[in-house]
Amino acid sequence: MTSNTSSATTYPIPAADCKRKDNFTEDLSTKPAPLTDGVVVGLDGLSVPNDDTRSRIDEAPEQVEKRLQKMYGAVRTLLECVGEDPDREGLLATPSRYAKALLFLTKGYQDNVENIVSNALFHEGHNEMVVVKDIKCYSLCEHHLLPFTGKIHIGYIPSGTVIGLSKLSRIVEMFSRWLQIQERLTNEVACAIMKVLNPEGVAVIMESCHLCMEIRGVEKTGATTITTCVLGCFKETSATYNEFLSLIVLNRK
Ligand SMILES: [Zn+2]
Repeated sequence: MTSNTSSATTYPIPAADCKRKDNFTEDLSTKPAPLTDGVVVGLDGLSVPNDDTRSRIDEAPEQVEKRLQKMYGAVRTLLECVGEDPDREGLLATPSRYAKALLFLTKGYQDNVENIVSNALFHEGHNEMVVVKDIKCYSLCEHHLLPFTGKIHIGYIPSGTVIGLSKLSRIVEMFSRWLQIQERLTNEVACAIMKVLNPEGVAVIMESCHLCMEIRGVEKTGATTITTCVLGCFKETSATYNEFLSLIVLNRK
């Protein structure tokens, strides 16, 4: 489900487009495998959109330096193309700074779900709804490489197993530090929780503002895009989903 609180256009995409399957083959021993609802998580728990991202994890220092040098050259070219002098004082260190910033902003490619949740699953027998709301989220739109920022709200009903609450934020952090679209990010967070906890159901709502809408194109400031992913009992029982919604707005003015 996708809705928008203003008249601005969102980015509806067919479900099939969410499936990053181009790089996958049937050989599941070496390739990431489809998880559920279009999300891809490797069998080792590593979530990656393609083979190249894996190479960032185990790089030797000289390979890191080679990657950075390549990025410096690319940023320098961009500066030249916008009509700047990359050799003027203020821009001398910009390629280096930007390359390092971009690697930080995409550091989710070097993380994986398995590591995040390790030692943080507890068999508590708690079967009531757990909600963590207002998780701050910073991501980069893959269409324009511009930020979109907002909040994610997560609810799940355990089936005997709960997860350390901070791990939900870390799952959000991991997926948001990929190049993303909001719809897919929402979906991936929900499906990852479904996969690692096998709960009765999961609901994820994300609300955010996209700089690519605010400062370019239609230049619609103040528009909020809301996306949801609802799985299991949240999908099957409207009362459950409504309870989740009421908890999210609780204590809001
Ligand atoms: Zn964009």
